Amino acid sequence: MKIGIVGIGLIGASLGWDFRQMGHQVIGVSRQQRTCEIAEREGICDRASCDLASLRDTEIIFICTPIAAIIPTIELLIPHLNPDTIITDAGSVKGGIVDRATELWSSFVGGHPMAGNSESGIAAFERGLFHHRPYVLTPTPETVPVALERVAELVRSLNCILHYATPEQHDLAVAWISHLPIMVSASLISACLHEADPVILDFAKKFASTGFQDTSRVGGGNPEMGMMMAEYNRDAILRSLYQYRDRLDSTIGSIESKEWAKVKDLLAMNQVIRPEFLNSIDPE
Ligand code: NAP
Repeated sequence: MKIGIVGIGLIGASLGWDFRQMGHQVIGVSRQQRTCEIAEREGICDRASCDLASLRDTEIIFICTPIAAIIPTIELLIPHLNPDTIITDAGSVKGGIVDRATELWSSFVGGHPMAGNSESGIAAFERGLFHHRPYVLTPTPETVPVALERVAELVRSLNCILHYATPEQHDLAVAWISHLPIMVSASLISACLHEADPVILDFAKKFASTGFQDTSRVGGGNPEMGMMMAEYNRDAILRSLYQYRDRLDSTIGSIESKEWAKVKDLLAMNQVIRPEFLNSIDPE
């Protein structure tokens, strides 16, 4: 199959690498010429350039640009496409993208690979990044069934765990497990930095080990991406943040009133339930 990738960064390059390993032909388009040269040299794309016209006879195109560039990229791409081409995207938020993209191009299928790391750009790409990770497709009643099935087939071949959800369900669910953790983790780092005593702050930095590494990881990642999640998934992320604030207030209340049994019950319940959120992750 001839596959197009627009935006050869962490996600686009990781997809390109895996598709080439499967024997597909991958044509890449990115913003910077230097990125395109690296993509060809590293074997991520068969050919790569800054020219969207190079995607003219591709069968499926993955838009892997930052969220803000997805719709403008589709608008620029359309004049170059033949009518059979299917477009899908990798954006972390689906509301505002899927409906508009489907209006522009009927064979559009919203998608979101639930995999990544805290780096960005082509240098951050990982071989097999999507293996055993969830990959969500977000069809609507307007989605063309054949287009959906072709994207699903290709995504399944990445060895992902394929899920379907509406764009709205997707955005509410990822607000809980992806966007809220980024804001909580960022607030954690920021709260530590507000320690007024410089000696304590210095000790805290020196004493920090795996617990802090785990809990601060997502809050210390790519700032543009975190900001775009907040901007593009604002309502869902606020809904989760308000509930999180309620839970935090409740825990503070239990500790203030020395209700140790309540604190223990909360932690014990979480210990039991947490694995239900980690089904797609290798055992620790
Ligand atoms: P990234 O590493 O920053 O890669 C995006 C690349 O797109 C940039 O490196 C840039 O490449 C290129 N680009 C930017 N604007 C462009 C434009 N207008 N036209 C063509 N290329 C352009 O970002 P990412 O982490 O791969 O994320 C890409 C998409 O996947 C986003 O929509 C994000 O929401 C989604 N996503 C991210 C993750 C994650 O954990 N990172 C997970 C799942 C989904 P050059 O400037 O180098 O050419």
